[in-house]
Amino acid sequence: MKVVVIGSGLAGLTAAAYMCREGHDVTIYEQYSEIGGVTTTIHKDGYSWDIGPLLLEGLAPHEKLGKILAELGISDKISAIQEDRGQVLPDFAIWRPKEYKGKYWRREYFKELFPSESEGLDRYYRYYDQVMTLMAISNRLEWVKGLEAIWLKLKIFPKFLRVKKFMDKSAADIMDSFFNEPKLKAVFMGILADFVVKPSEFPGLGVPVSNVETAFDKRIPLDIKGGKLPVYHYIKNGCEQLVNAFASYIKENGGKILTDSLVEKILIENNRAVGIKIKNGEELQADVVIASGGAHKTFFSLVGKENLPSEFITNVQNLVHMESVLMVHLGIDFDPTPHQRAALCYYYGTYDIEGAVNRCRSGDFHEGKQGFLIYVPSKHSPEMAPSGHHAVTVYTIAPYKLIKGDWNSRREELADKLLIEAEKIIPGLREHSTTEVIMTPLDFKSRIFVERHSFGGLAPIMNQQSPSHHTPIEGLWYIGAQSESGGGVAGVVAGTRSGILKLLKEI
Ligand SMILES: Cc1cc2nc3c(=O)[nH]c(=O)nc-3n(C[C@H](O)[C@H](O)[C@H](O)COP(=O)(O)OP(=O)(O)OC[C@H]3O[C@@H](n4cnc5c(N)ncnc54)[C@H](O)[C@@H]3O)c2cc1C
Repeated sequence: MKVVVIGSGLAGLTAAAYMCREGHDVTIYEQYSEIGGVTTTIHKDGYSWDIGPLLLEGLAPHEKLGKILAELGISDKISAIQEDRGQVLPDFAIWRPKEYKGKYWRREYFKELFPSESEGLDRYYRYYDQVMTLMAISNRLEWVKGLEAIWLKLKIFPKFLRVKKFMDKSAADIMDSFFNEPKLKAVFMGILADFVVKPSEFPGLGVPVSNVETAFDKRIPLDIKGGKLPVYHYIKNGCEQLVNAFASYIKENGGKILTDSLVEKILIENNRAVGIKIKNGEELQADVVIASGGAHKTFFSLVGKENLPSEFITNVQNLVHMESVLMVHLGIDFDPTPHQRAALCYYYGTYDIEGAVNRCRSGDFHEGKQGFLIYVPSKHSPEMAPSGHHAVTVYTIAPYKLIKGDWNSRREELADKLLIEAEKIIPGLREHSTTEVIMTPLDFKSRIFVERHSFGGLAPIMNQQSPSHHTPIEGLWYIGAQSESGGGVAGVVAGTRSGILKLLKEI
């Protein structure tokens, strides 16, 4: 079959890899001059920085992404470095202790900080263990068949019943049921600010899943009841290594990747996708079109509302997106380790996560005051900066549209304000910076060709119905962060793989 893939982010690359593997004639069309979408590493003056994912879940051999890399035979093309990160709140910091203190050291530390919450902490960590077991078994289920699958389903059922009562509860409800202290709730809900999702909208079962203890201490043993815990890794020398591994596989298996090739239209005849029209006006026929990219752009511009059922249009119109980010990449001539001991730390300036998300969504930018993260990739990959220097990324969530001014006119000013906040952690960042790259929401928008940039795709809120891989148009499949896969590297890659396996069964 002649297969067209729109977009060379990890979703497009995964789709192309699996279609090439079956011997189809595959071409990826990428509108930007480079491949990779947001999973790209940029380079300037001897420094390298990732513009998207940092500490990745899913890369271990027992996890989704690790299994997919092994299935494609490309695991050896990247080096993964297992790590953890810090989390700093206005009144206390959470760094793993120098000497390992067991898998529940955070629980005991929180008991010291909030003695009145001891009983709630014990209950929360029992809930956490139950969710981890459930997740470990369901992750294994995706990869087994026959008797083993039946056995795992039998095993998972009683475990599911134990947490079923939490199914319809939001993160805010769950936290209220365990704790009274807003500062403690913010420890577990802080990450939601990163997703730009309100605790009242986020599924409660997702709280343990987005606060896996191995993210805060890599020494925690992985084996648990039912399987293994998730693990976190950096990719040595940046995420482009992962992109390159997929791209080489595609080319070695006969696929083509064309850059500077914007797809303007998906050609549709009798409710069937029959090809694409690219920017230079050329029309290309295809048996299957697999599109990644923003849902609005894909369905309303490339496909056209006239080709879609009204219910589908309403759903896409009502999708809630995450907001964007302001990112400043620096090359510095000193070692920041005395100020930040790990490569990555999240700094929170507020305990009011619900309010912070509300303000961000309304266009009110906090200028770094309510939180940011600092990432020093050259700490785990010294090749990402010249000798004796370091590559540093400071970034924070930011509204796609500002209520005051716009990103073009306020670019330098807002980047500077963010660095002023970051200098409270690492003094001298601006004075010692030898080079700088600022990325505003508008830079991200043109980099990945979306209508409005949202950094992780659709907001993971309860009852949101992301468009499924199988679209209402025959022969058109939709993949990527805004599809049913959901955002995140492992989610996008694994979701695309299962979408493509479905596609292959149907044709
Ligand atoms: C700042 C940031 C931090 C993140 N942090 C993490 C993290 O820590 N962990 C994690 O797991 N995930 C993280 N993510 C999310 C994760 O990176 C994404 O969900 C995932 O990589 C999305 O992949 P994708 O292929 O769907 O989309 P993209 O990477 O956006 O790729 C889409 C591609 O399609 C191209 N395209 C779109 N339309 C067209 C068209 N019409 N014609 C031609 N080409 C087109 C675009 O140019 C782009 O290259 C982060 C993302 C960002 C931005």
